[in-house]
Amino acid sequence: MPKRRILQIEDLHDKRVLKTRAHAIKQITPALQALAADMFETMHAANGVGLAAPQVGISQRIAVIWIPPEEEEQPDGSIIELAPEQNYVLINPEIVKHSDKEEIGQEGCLSLPGRYGDVPRASWVTVDYTDLKGKRQRIRKANGLLGRALQHEIDHLDGVLFTERMRDLSTLKDIRTQSPNDVEEPVV
Ligand code: ZN
Repeated sequence: MPKRRILQIEDLHDKRVLKTRAHAIKQITPALQALAADMFETMHAANGVGLAAPQVGISQRIAVIWIPPEEEEQPDGSIIELAPEQNYVLINPEIVKHSDKEEIGQEGCLSLPGRYGDVPRASWVTVDYTDLKGKRQRIRKANGLLGRALQHEIDHLDGVLFTERMRDLSTLKDIRTQSPNDVEEPVV
């Protein structure tokens, strides 16, 4: 599973690809399965929780999302897993329903490393997608990190970048200039 290069918003040629609406996928092929595996590897290597195919230069409607397990440290130092990790391969995903209510949250993007900004998103979304076996699936009322990642990745498939969703560009901060001990927000 080779890692792929992640296209960068600040590179003019890359940006043209990132701004292009991706094509619907008509068939699940071994090449598509290999692409999904490469995308997981590329995302994990970059410490991301989501990656869309246009970010690796492929204008097709496929994205991957990884939600880390929820863990809680006990007084004795042991760690209890409250919820397992979640892995999604989303082919031709669409938002079929969303809350009217919005939430503003911090977001980053693997195509704009080190930068985070306040992005308004629907509090929850219901998303239909096809899985790698070709079966249509539904994620109901996804909120929190999953809801935000779904909206961010589907935007990538439409050629929309998170900076275009920001209402206040002055909230875009550059953590590359800060101490490396600062906690990094999840990037998608
Ligand atoms: Zn992104």
